[in-house]
Amino acid sequence: MFDKILIANRGEIALRVLRACKELGIPTVAVHSTADADAMHVRFADESVCIGPPAAKDSYLNVPSILSACEITGADAVHPGYGFLSENARFAEILADHGVQFIGPKAEHIRLMGDKIEAKRTAKKLGIPVVPGSEGGVGSDQEAAKIAGDLGYPVLIKAAAGGGGRGMKVARNAGELSVALSTARAEAKAAFGDDAVYIEKYLERPRHIEIQVLGDGKGDAIHMGERDCSLQRRHQKVWEEGHSPALNASSRDAIGETVAKAMREIGYLGVGTVEFLYEDGKFYFIEMNTRIQVEHPVTEMITDIDLIFEQIRVAAGTPLTIKQSDVKFHGHAIECRINAENPVSFRPSPGKILHYHPPGGLGVRIDSAVYQGYTIPPYYDSLVGKLIVHGKTRTECLMRLKRALDEVVVDGIETTLPLFRALVRETDIIDGNYHIHWLEQFLARGGMES
Ligand code: ADP
Repeated sequence: MFDKILIANRGEIALRVLRACKELGIPTVAVHSTADADAMHVRFADESVCIGPPAAKDSYLNVPSILSACEITGADAVHPGYGFLSENARFAEILADHGVQFIGPKAEHIRLMGDKIEAKRTAKKLGIPVVPGSEGGVGSDQEAAKIAGDLGYPVLIKAAAGGGGRGMKVARNAGELSVALSTARAEAKAAFGDDAVYIEKYLERPRHIEIQVLGDGKGDAIHMGERDCSLQRRHQKVWEEGHSPALNASSRDAIGETVAKAMREIGYLGVGTVEFLYEDGKFYFIEMNTRIQVEHPVTEMITDIDLIFEQIRVAAGTPLTIKQSDVKFHGHAIECRINAENPVSFRPSPGKILHYHPPGGLGVRIDSAVYQGYTIPPYYDSLVGKLIVHGKTRTECLMRLKRALDEVVVDGIETTLPLFRALVRETDIIDGNYHIHWLEQFLARGGMES
C-alpha cells in the first residue's frame, strides 16, 4: 500500500479522497492555490502545500509544482480526482518517471479513451455497440456532407478531443451542415487545441446511461451497474440516479457484462465509466471516462462499495477482492448537483455563503466542501455540493429527496436548489419518464416560472 497520497485536486472531491485515505490509514497531502488557503481539504489533510496562484493553469494544472510537492512531502502516489489532471496521460507518465504512482488507469488507456474517435473504434472492436457515424475524423465539407447524407439528418458534429459538452453542434439538414462543422471545429480548437471532429447520428430522445467499471489491470474486471444521467443542461449532468428507471435486471446484466468483458480484454486498471445513449431498448457507446466521476456516490449508495477505496487498492497492485457475484444492488439513489448558479439561466453565482444548513437523517448524504462563511471563488467549477439520497424504492427515495431539499439552506449566493425542488414535483420525473432533452424543454416552456 502507499505510504502517503497527495491529492491533486480541490473542493468536494479532494475531501472525498481524503476520507477514503483516512479510513485506509494512509497519510495525506493537500495541494492548494492561494485562493484556496482556507479550503476544507487543506484543513483536513495531514500536510498541505501551496502550489501557485488562483488560475488553475498556474496551480491545479501546474505539473512541476505538483511534482515538487510530492518530492518535498515524500508522497509516493497522487490521486487526481476528476477534472484538472485526471485524464492527462502525460501527467501519469511524468509521475511514473519520478517514482510516483498515478492513482488511475494506465497511460495508454487514458490516451486511447481521450481520443473519442479512437475510443469508438476500440469499443466497436471489443463488441460494444456504438452510435452510427463516421468511421473516423471527417476531412472536407464534401466528405462530411456525404457521410451525413448517408446517415440521415439530424446529425451531431463532435470534437475528437471533446469533453464537458464542448465542440458539439447539431445539423438538422444539409443547409446547416457547413456552419455546424466550422463552429464545432472552432470551438474544439479553442477548448482543446485540436480541431479534429467526427459525425454521429443525432438521437432525438435517448437516455444517457453509464456503466461503472473497476479493473485490476491484470485482466480482472467487474461492473457495478448503471447510473442514469439523462437530466442535463447544455450536455452537462445535473441529476443522476441508479438504477435507471428504464432498465430491468436482465438488460442491466447484459450491458454490464459486455462492458466488463471488454475491460478484462484490455486489462483496464482502476475505476472507469463507459457512457451510452439508450433509445428504443438499444445501447449506443459514446465515450469512456477513465477516472472517478462526480456522480460515483449513486453507485456507492446502492452497492455499499467505496469506489475511491477500491481505486486506491488496485492502483497499489492489489487484486480485486470483489467478484461480480459479490456486487449486490439494494434500493435506489439520486444525486443532485447543487451549483452556485442561477437556477434558470445557470449563470455562475460565486460569493460568500452567509448561512448554511445541510440536511440530515436516514439515507441522506452530502458530499461538499463548503461551510458557513466560506466564499466560493470565481476561478473553478461552481459546485457547492452534491446531495445524495438513498431509499428502499425509487418512491421512497423521491419522498426523502423532497424533504431533504426542503431542509437545505444555502444563503448569500444563488444556487440550483429551486430547480431540484421543482423537479421532484414534476410528473415525468416522478414517473421516471425523461430523456436527455427533457430538462431543456422543461426550462424552455417556463417550467420554473409556474
Ligand atoms: P462530452 O465528452 O463533451 O461530455 P459526450 O460524448 O459524453 O460528450 O456527450 C455528452 C452529452 O451530449 C450526452 O450525454 C448527450 O446528452 C449528448 N450527446 C452526445 N452524443 C449524442 C448523439 N449522438 N445524439 C444526441 N445526443 C448526444
